[in-house]
Amino acid sequence: MTTPTFAAQPYSGIASFGRCPIINDPQGYDVAIAGIPYDGSVSYRSGTRFGPRAIREQSLLLWGYNNVQQVAPFKTLKIADVGDIDVIPPDIVATHHEIERAASRFLAAGPKLISLGGDHSISLPLLRAHAKKYGPVAVVHFDAHPDTWDSEYPGQKYSHGTPFRRALDESLIDPAAYVQIGIRGPTNGPEDYLDAIKLGTRMITLEEFRRSGVETVLAEVQSRIGARPTYVTLDIDAVDPAFAPGTGTPEVGGITSYEILQLVRGLHGLNLVGFDLVEVSPPFDSANITSILAANLVFEFLSLIAKASK
Ligand code: MN
Ligand code: MN
Repeated sequence: MTTPTFAAQPYSGIASFGRCPIINDPQGYDVAIAGIPYDGSVSYRSGTRFGPRAIREQSLLLWGYNNVQQVAPFKTLKIADVGDIDVIPPDIVATHHEIERAASRFLAAGPKLISLGGDHSISLPLLRAHAKKYGPVAVVHFDAHPDTWDSEYPGQKYSHGTPFRRALDESLIDPAAYVQIGIRGPTNGPEDYLDAIKLGTRMITLEEFRRSGVETVLAEVQSRIGARPTYVTLDIDAVDPAFAPGTGTPEVGGITSYEILQLVRGLHGLNLVGFDLVEVSPPFDSANITSILAANLVFEFLSLIAKASK
């Protein structure tokens, strides 16, 4: 008599992302998934240091087959959970240095990198690592905020309000192929948006998104970016706090959870080289709905990579 084997239940066992193997050196893997539990640079509520763990836990609810994209990414791709990158809470420069070093090591080993934040400052060292490999990248940036301030605190160049200003300063992004989607909410004045537009971003505010709709916005993203290597950065506060309350700087009147799924799926066909999902703050979440959405958005991105690899 053979001993029957049972699949682990979603609530049992140790939670790597999607129960992928925990691997330090992702040589030979298609995708590496890293946590970056850093929240030292936020302007309001902290807590995104707990994001990677919460997203991994909710990822165990992903049964595996994507019925819309018609692909099973955990079967099609070799995916490694490379654990969490070391962070140094009181030192943003040292933390960014460590993120860039670790991300460069993962990328040099071959796989594409998906990063789970953490606050949005982590996108700067991630873009440095990707630009080192691919040159200046196209960027699709989902967010309620442009994150292109020159400085959020006097004399401080780095915070979660400045990563894309710094990335443009450092020529990590091709400004002709940089699209922001979901921007909204009150600011100090009109210059916040005007500065971002002056830097070359194509800012699609929430109002424009509502007027144009998902298909029109996606058509513009596709035509602006074309075949360029493309990095996708998704600040969960792009989504309405009714659908994603677990975040540090919520802005009312945002994208719905269904629309953000459609928007990510609609990136199909782009030359996608990297993805980060940031600003999930579990202490402010309710019934895990934000981390469940985050896990599903990573699943959609994995499905895009899986479809492109077939
Ligand atoms: Mn934001
Ligand atoms: Mn942001």
